[in-house]
Amino acid sequence: MSKNEKILIVDDDENICKTLSLILEKKNYSVDVAHTGKEATELMKHGPVNIVLLDIRLPDMEGIALMSTWRKKYQETDIIVITGHSTVDYVVKVVNQGAFAFLIKPLVMDQLFALINSLMKKQHMNRVLLSIRNVNQMIVKENSPDQLIQKACRLLTEQRGYKTAWINLVSENGKWDTSAESGIGKNFSAYKQQLKDGKISQCCKKVLKISGTLVIRPSDIDCVDCPLHGPDCGQKMMLTRIEYEKNIYGTLAVTRLEEIIIDKEELSLFNEMSGDLGFALHDIILSENFKKSHAELQKLTHDLNERLKEIYCLYGIDEIITLPGINFSEVFNETIRLIQSNWQYPEITEARITFEGKVYKTKNFRKTKWSIQADISIDNVKAGKIEVCYLEKKPDLIQGPFLEEEIHLLQRIANSLVKYIKQQEIKNDLVKAKEKAEESDRLKSSFLSNMSHEIRTPLNAIVGFSDMFGNADIPYEEKERFVPIIKENTNQLLHLVDDILDLSKMESDQLKIFKKECRVSQVLENLVDVFNNQKTGIGKKEIDIRLKTEKQIEELSIHTDPVRLQQVLSNLIGNALKFTESGYIEIGCTVQTKKDGKNDRFIQFWVKDTGIGISEKEQKIIFDRFIKVEGDITKLYRGTGLGLAISKKLVNMLGGEIWVESTPGKGSTFYFTIPVGEVEMSKAKTGPAKKIQETNGSDNWNDKSILIAEDEESNFKLLEIILKKKKANITWVTNGVDAVKACKSKSFDLVIMDIKMSEMDGFTATKMIKKFKKELPVIAVTAYAREEEKEECLLAGCDDIVVKPINIEKLLTTLGKYI
Ligand code: ADP
Repeated sequence: MSKNEKILIVDDDENICKTLSLILEKKNYSVDVAHTGKEATELMKHGPVNIVLLDIRLPDMEGIALMSTWRKKYQETDIIVITGHSTVDYVVKVVNQGAFAFLIKPLVMDQLFALINSLMKKQHMNRVLLSIRNVNQMIVKENSPDQLIQKACRLLTEQRGYKTAWINLVSENGKWDTSAESGIGKNFSAYKQQLKDGKISQCCKKVLKISGTLVIRPSDIDCVDCPLHGPDCGQKMMLTRIEYEKNIYGTLAVTRLEEIIIDKEELSLFNEMSGDLGFALHDIILSENFKKSHAELQKLTHDLNERLKEIYCLYGIDEIITLPGINFSEVFNETIRLIQSNWQYPEITEARITFEGKVYKTKNFRKTKWSIQADISIDNVKAGKIEVCYLEKKPDLIQGPFLEEEIHLLQRIANSLVKYIKQQEIKNDLVKAKEKAEESDRLKSSFLSNMSHEIRTPLNAIVGFSDMFGNADIPYEEKERFVPIIKENTNQLLHLVDDILDLSKMESDQLKIFKKECRVSQVLENLVDVFNNQKTGIGKKEIDIRLKTEKQIEELSIHTDPVRLQQVLSNLIGNALKFTESGYIEIGCTVQTKKDGKNDRFIQFWVKDTGIGISEKEQKIIFDRFIKVEGDITKLYRGTGLGLAISKKLVNMLGGEIWVESTPGKGSTFYFTIPVGEVEMSKAKTGPAKKIQETNGSDNWNDKSILIAEDEESNFKLLEIILKKKKANITWVTNGVDAVKACKSKSFDLVIMDIKMSEMDGFTATKMIKKFKKELPVIAVTAYAREEEKEECLLAGCDDIVVKPINIEKLLTTLGKYI
């Protein structure tokens, strides 16, 4: 036990002093001794003295005089006067000077100790009462739990009511929350650490379970596991739980003087104080909760208000962007107006939208450092931005001067604008698509009327001149002049049909490319021959059609579709001839290497003329379908507007590009490229270019037997007339079954096989004939001109193919090869 309770012995009798101090120190009091009044006055200054045992007769002064000087100064100190006098007057005098008791020498020790005990008890209760009163006064003012418990501990020890005091607060689930102490000092941190680790000391555990006050002594089992066991707490302790209306808030512990017996009054005071603390904590927590809910409510209301503004702003913008006929600038101007009026501080808010180089802003917009912005991005590409600036600084919230809602809102406004911009784009696309569809419709109508003209013109010539053949009044020489006219018009008609077929294949994606090795010079030379023949027929004999190629081209074979290559060149040369009245047409090609690092080679063809030329504007559209430039109204050129569109598609399918360079009045040059492919010029399998000398064979086929399988009589008749001229022997069957039968029963030198026949088609019949007469040549005559069907004929076993309408020359040449 620490010696806090002090007794001062003031006596000039050395023996008495010694005896008393010995006995009192044993009783654990702290004892000071003074032999004179002066010494005693000095010792009184050193700290609180609980009791003074005062001899009334001192060498330097009277004890009574001392008492009168101390009376006001040391009110807490009780004085027991010790004297040899025993008169009533004297006793009254001494008591009036402030003495608490009066003992007459010789001292009866038990009497002295009983007196000291009762004085100590009285003093202790006074201090306890004072502490409790102070605590009660404090708790009504305090509104923080931490402060409350800290101050309570301090007040409980301040007046020496208790030696130490400590409070633990626990949370609702009984876990330790926080602690405060007074009188313990730095050793309390070890205790706190233990609580933090979840180990609540036995004493506290116990008291948390029961109401009322526990008195625990250091020797109790509940006391030994606690870090405070020892000098800090190892004393008699009063412990109670702090509670209010079944809510347990924590524990309150005090240590106190061992000697003073705890009586009922002290216990009930202690309990009362703990109840007051419980109430105070309850009140604080309640008001804290209330404050919290109030703040939350306020925030909710605020958020709701902001959200309402947000909704109003967005709703406004969504309303605007759906207004029919509203334009970009109206939308943007209305948006910045809505932003301004719906922001937190409308009076200082300014907004600006920048979109595709144009700026829309509120009247006083000025870029300040208190700003936020959102990008307007279309398909991940930034096309503009919205900025909102405050003209003055506003208090910084967590997220800056703007509310979090406003930052989100700005991005959502940007998104709404993006939605609007995209809708406009779709609308524009729709308008464009509509215009295109109308244009295409217009083009198709003009194409159809033009087509009708293009079909009727050659047909007119064919029908008219054919009719005239039957007119007996027209002499034979005259009729002979009709033949080239009918031929030319037939060719034109065929060309037209081919173009239309190609176009429909192109449009349904069925145009196929059949690549093989192809000698470029052969293709070019044949074409030049063909067009040189043709030009005379159309009255353009004077136009020089010439070939200009590099030396290396002579040997060049490329891997491409020769039919389609020829078709493109033929279209271009045909156009050149059509649109040129004088001068020349030059056809040529060079080999070039692509500069893409892959070293791919390609061949570039050109067809150059000195014709009417094409204006720059027209150059851009002539490769589109149905485009026919009608610039020169002085001369009407025939044509359908399909040739260049087909050529462009074909060149693209062959892997190249086509373009034109032209000067109106001077002429045009059409260029196109196609890849050389895998065939090398030097390694070309075929030999040097050589013109195939085609022959009709002998004029007399009277020893030859030919089987014609053809279900159309008119077609048979035509073949019959042609072959009769050659005196061939003809057998006619009208279906595949009969053809097979005939070949089995009779020997023929050649079979002409129509493909599309009833009962058995030409493919099957040929296959069957070839099974038993492998050597017998079978020539397919078919109206199917598609490459796939040609392939199928060859696969079925046909030796060659002649395409309808029959070109007599070509038929005889083909038959001549096999007969
Ligand atoms: P068309 O059947 O009308 O010739 P094309 O598609 O071949 O159809 O050509 C389209 C248009 O391009 C022609 O009507 C013509 O106006 C122009 N054109 C084509 N080739 C030439 C050229 N060599 N010289 C001048 N104009 C040309």
